[in-house]
Amino acid sequence: MTTEHFDILIIGAGLSGIGAAWHFQDKCPTKSYAILEARDSIGGTWDIHRYPGVRSDSEMYTYAYSFKPWTGTKVIADGEEILEYIRETARENGIDQHIRFGTKVLKADWSDKTNTWTVTAERQVEGKAKKTTFTCNFLLSCAGYYSYEGGYVPEFKGREDFKGPVVHPQEWPEDLDYTGKNVVIIGSGATAVTLLPAMAEKAKHVTMLQRSPTYMASIPKNDYISDALRLVLPDMLVHRLGRARGVALQRGVFRLSQSAPQLTSKILRGLVKRQVGKNVDMKHFTPSYNPWDERLCAVPNGDLFKAVRKGHASIVTNHIDRFTEKGILLQNGEELEADIIVTATGFNIQLLGGMTLSVNQKPVKLTEGMVYKGTLFEGVPNAAMIFGYTNSSWTLKSDLSSEYICRLINYMDQMGAVKAVPVNKDNSIQKHSFITDGSGCTNAGYIQRALDKMPLQGDRLPWKVHMNYLKDLPMLRYSSLNDGTMKFSLTGTLEDGQEAMVEIGA
Ligand SMILES: Cc1cc2nc3c(=O)[nH]c(=O)nc-3n(C[C@H](O)[C@H](O)[C@H](O)COP(=O)(O)OP(=O)(O)OC[C@H]3O[C@@H](n4cnc5c(N)ncnc54)[C@H](O)[C@@H]3O)c2cc1C
Repeated sequence: MTTEHFDILIIGAGLSGIGAAWHFQDKCPTKSYAILEARDSIGGTWDIHRYPGVRSDSEMYTYAYSFKPWTGTKVIADGEEILEYIRETARENGIDQHIRFGTKVLKADWSDKTNTWTVTAERQVEGKAKKTTFTCNFLLSCAGYYSYEGGYVPEFKGREDFKGPVVHPQEWPEDLDYTGKNVVIIGSGATAVTLLPAMAEKAKHVTMLQRSPTYMASIPKNDYISDALRLVLPDMLVHRLGRARGVALQRGVFRLSQSAPQLTSKILRGLVKRQVGKNVDMKHFTPSYNPWDERLCAVPNGDLFKAVRKGHASIVTNHIDRFTEKGILLQNGEELEADIIVTATGFNIQLLGGMTLSVNQKPVKLTEGMVYKGTLFEGVPNAAMIFGYTNSSWTLKSDLSSEYICRLINYMDQMGAVKAVPVNKDNSIQKHSFITDGSGCTNAGYIQRALDKMPLQGDRLPWKVHMNYLKDLPMLRYSSLNDGTMKFSLTGTLEDGQEAMVEIGA
């Protein structure tokens, strides 16, 4: 069997993988590439999550790609619209022709002899798993940040006593009928906040059971300004204006939250109070942390607050003692009756889609090295990952990272380099967790559980992870590629016919 070779291999056909492919086609048009996708469809997050009401929690001009205008009318879009937007991008640009579906990448090994990666993947052929290999010059992981094998569910005492369905939003049963049923949603993140109003439309009653409250902010559902501008201006210009406004607003709210946390907290709680009405206890909307220490949940047109105000839904803040036959017993002795329990309890964090990396057959311990410019790995040649913002729209960073990787590949071509590897020679650099304060999710349970599975970052550039678009933009789009940290290797033939390797940079 012959091993196929590509200049670039992308792992994952979600938002980031399709976006990266667009950038490669645009900026490195002579390069061959393929996308290896474990599932049988495009879309990743937006394909697997099918729970009622699934939607973005970022506004769409910043969540959409920089290169394809968002023309939807909603500020916060439905999952189905986002999925169609990603698929349309793939179709319009012929990217779908480059995808190898049903191909799960297991491992990749870099060889200094051939200056290529050998990527081992698994394909299901007639119900049997078959190994297949590819080689490439550059490896880009766009595999997201969580496992597709299943969501995170904590151990609940008495789980087997409850006879009704227990459902995780990542594995939503298509035929789940909750009409006229009592539903308890465990969780208080964006997923629970989305599910509550959507399920309350048909359910008898929905209870959101949270251990602790989350900051929420009502935002308008429709963007009438952009709709009006679109009547007189080209779509791309409206998109750029919307994007600039989105970046400014996100940064503004984030900075206000960091510099005046008490004031921001008061404003946010005040706005919620006006919407939920006098009869709802504000303790359910009063977090113990500062705004943006965890992601702020957007509530389009205050739909969650309306459902609570009208009595179709309620919020309970308490700890679970155990599941019972009838529902959930709380630590205060109260029992919440449920026909269906939804565990909106988060993800199993996983980087690089669970694949392992090795360099010259030596395993790479990603958790011991730092990330370079938030996208390459210390000591690992010709490999990168896309990891978007957690305190802002993911795509703002994924677009910038893809642009940077294209610049790097073109620069390597210009100088005739076959290998680029970030090397740290500065022993005074302090290493920190990949996710630190200012990332908007430091306290989130799923991040805390995953810190020991993530690479590290340094206390200064180019090893620091900004989580700030306005700082990343100059660094990734304009900064020097040969910055003294990136080491480039060039091969050539000497007069006597011998192959020689020259190193430039670090
Ligand atoms: C319900 C929900 C709502 C969200 N809303 C927002 C939002 O509003 N704003 C925001 O900024 N972020 C949001 N996020 C975060 C979101 O995941 C990112 O915005 C973005 O979709 C990530 O895209 P991605 O392509 O990097 O990863 P994913 O969408 O996770 O796609 C990864 C792809 O890689 C494939 N893959 C994984 N491992 C392998 C492997 N080993 N081999 C081959 N293929 C593999 C997967 O099958 C998948 O298709 C949300 C997340 C969820 C779950």
